[in-house]
Amino acid sequence: MAFKRVVILGGGPVGLLCAIEARQHFKSVSVVEKRSTYSRTNVPVVDNDLRLHFKTLGVHQKMGLGESAMQGDPPFKRIEGTLFDHASSRGIEMLRPFVVTSVSGGSENKFGRYKSILLTLRQWDDQSRKFVDGAKPLTVNADLLVIATGGGAAADPLVTETLGFTYEKLKAKNYGAYGIFEKTGDVLNPSPGHKEGKLAAREISAKVAAPASIRLQTADYNYLLATLAGITRNDFKLLQSSQERLKKLLFALESARGSGITEKLKEVEKNVGLFKIAIQRARQFYSPKYPAVLVGDAAVTPHPEQGSGYTTGFRGFEELKRLLEALKGTDRSKDNSLIFQGFNDRYELHVSRKALQGTVAIVANNRRTLETYAADIRALAARTKYLGMRQILEHDAATADDLAEELKAQEAAAKKMLAYLEPDKGQELPELGEDETASALWKRIDTTWGQLKKLMKHDALLDDGRLAEVEKKLAIQ
Ligand SMILES: Cc1cc2nc3c(=O)[nH]c(=O)nc-3n(C[C@H](O)[C@H](O)[C@H](O)COP(=O)(O)OP(=O)(O)OC[C@H]3O[C@@H](n4cnc5c(N)ncnc54)[C@H](O)[C@@H]3O)c2cc1C
Repeated sequence: MAFKRVVILGGGPVGLLCAIEARQHFKSVSVVEKRSTYSRTNVPVVDNDLRLHFKTLGVHQKMGLGESAMQGDPPFKRIEGTLFDHASSRGIEMLRPFVVTSVSGGSENKFGRYKSILLTLRQWDDQSRKFVDGAKPLTVNADLLVIATGGGAAADPLVTETLGFTYEKLKAKNYGAYGIFEKTGDVLNPSPGHKEGKLAAREISAKVAAPASIRLQTADYNYLLATLAGITRNDFKLLQSSQERLKKLLFALESARGSGITEKLKEVEKNVGLFKIAIQRARQFYSPKYPAVLVGDAAVTPHPEQGSGYTTGFRGFEELKRLLEALKGTDRSKDNSLIFQGFNDRYELHVSRKALQGTVAIVANNRRTLETYAADIRALAARTKYLGMRQILEHDAATADDLAEELKAQEAAAKKMLAYLEPDKGQELPELGEDETASALWKRIDTTWGQLKKLMKHDALLDDGRLAEVEKKLAIQ
């Protein structure tokens, strides 16, 4: 019997594209999504390939991508909403809001793999984050399950314990924040202190935010996404515990980049957000036993500085397309492991590349944190009258220098490996030793991360007084 029924678990931006693609080859396609509506105001960068794909689907104008530049970039909710409507109109079954509660294999083929997969679903209430009382479980049968549930997949027992996917995680992290601001307009009477405020904001921004911060404009707000390279774990915890402080920081970062006159957070839910940037990747992308594959953030998480999450998630999409095409003419009872293995091998290149690009960003930002830290405590050492204290501070600064040097070497090692995965630019590739593997590099980076955390255990780099000053001077009249 041929592959007929495809179920996509996760109706986010990648899952919806997969569903629309699957519908071109298979009669029965369902999407299981746990959110009841799309509300994300974050704005992804839509690169040319993705834009072209939207154009081919005929959805780019509805998304606001075909209109004038004045329309700005569409937020996730508009992209997802448009794809959802498009998918529904193509006869794709939308099971929303539902989650999978259990999975079992259909009969095995003679090669020891399940021919199909049976999913039990329950209706989900995303407000109370509970199952809907009294709703009967639903069962859905799939010949192929595509898992597109995002970065949370690595912690989902259904994905790991039942379906048998395993993950590698880089322990070293970066910190990120976003803010949604009113669109800037011309203000004729800027506050008297606004020039100094802008200078102070730029100073903070240079210290705290990585240069590759992203600033996008939608039709009705500005979106700022920054990696906070100049903060410690303690700063992160403080920002987490105080929305006011986080708002002040984002206000300063936006002021440094925008006009510096009218920056004001937009009155929307979640107008600011703070998160850890963690890189994790699956070790394989098709289940050892079930007809199930991983795609998007469920396969590998992005670093926001290395291309928008959506754009990088889309880069592996070609491989899913090929898999669907190949499975279309295949009998479920036959040995199709070569088809899955082919998908796995090609997807591996894409995943390794994305994971290494993320690694480069993580390491570079942590080096920046160490450099900020070393400069701060050297300045403190210069001010202290006590010799003993000065020596301790200078010792810590020297340790930070050593760790920064080590991170520099790690960044170079990641770039060396990455060269093998980048498109051929005609240059000679460096020799890679047997022990030069991404896994070994991640272990080395994690050791340095442990040392960095130990060194800065009690320290904070964010200056509250400075933040308040920026806010006061830039306040709108
Ligand atoms: C805080 C934060 C801010 C971000 N900001 C940006 C940004 O500004 N720009 C950018 O390009 N990228 C951003 N990203 C990354 C971006 O969201 C992802 O890279 C992109 O959305 C990948 O899409 P995806 O479909 O693979 O996963 P996701 O977008 O995570 O979608 C997964 C979908 O699966 C659903 N789901 C999850 N578990 C289940 C389940 N068990 N059952 C049913 N459904 C389930 C979810 O509700 C969701 O709809 C951000 C990520 C985070 C965490």
